Amino acid sequence: MTGLLEVDAVDAHYGDFQALYGLSVSLDEGETLAVIGANGAGKSTLLKTIAGLVRPTSGEIRFAGERIDGVSAHRRVTQGVALTPEGRRIFPSLTVEENLLVGSYGQRPGPWNLQSVYDLFPLVSDRRARMGGHLSGGEQQAAAIGRALMSNPRLLMLDEVSLGLAPVVVGEIYQALPQITGRGTTVLLVEQDLGHALAVADRVQCLLEGRTVLEGPVADISRQQVADAYFGL
Ligand code: ATP
Repeated sequence: MTGLLEVDAVDAHYGDFQALYGLSVSLDEGETLAVIGANGAGKSTLLKTIAGLVRPTSGEIRFAGERIDGVSAHRRVTQGVALTPEGRRIFPSLTVEENLLVGSYGQRPGPWNLQSVYDLFPLVSDRRARMGGHLSGGEQQAAAIGRALMSNPRLLMLDEVSLGLAPVVVGEIYQALPQITGRGTTVLLVEQDLGHALAVADRVQCLLEGRTVLEGPVADISRQQVADAYFGL
């Protein structure tokens, strides 16, 4: 496997508040990394920093061998970086299909288009003409992932897929992940639902107050180690 993403000693601030402290993350092409941690650990900030929505105050980010920390967020999409944000951010007054088409802006060549997204998520296909604001939470989450896929990303970042959704819906969405990684997309997911995250990830990295407290292959780390790191024990 070759290195796709290299986050190197990144600090991030919101005004005077420091959210990330010299954080490093590396991700190989084709790998799935789960970033876990309690509320406020810095998980969303990490994803936003990689997507270009938060600017690091020090450190470097390299993607596919190129430095991207000075590149605009929309340019990063065209380079292959996509984020499904926490809260989904589906446009309520656009139809589901229009929401998906928004995601195809700056599309790279690849396997994802309206038809393949509909095949992946039949629940989105069934709602294609419905307004985004009239979807259930699970439908919105699936549509938001579909919208991110429409750019044909090399790296798909998912922020808290399971948040606020019924377990059965979370299960349906997680079932789609192997089909996404199976088409060559690298996945970085942030989760508080450890069960699902650890079931799909190759590696796990646990954050606490903006720093890494545990990382390694899922197969080599016990649930107890994860739980201890999560709670800062
Ligand atoms: P959560 O699961 O609650 O989203 P998280 O691990 O994703 O947690 P972040 O959202 O990255 O954590 O937040 C990290 C820290 O930065 C928190 O202390 C949070 O209060 C703070 N923070 C996040 N966004 C802002 C902001 N826009 N302005 C000020 N502080 C912020």
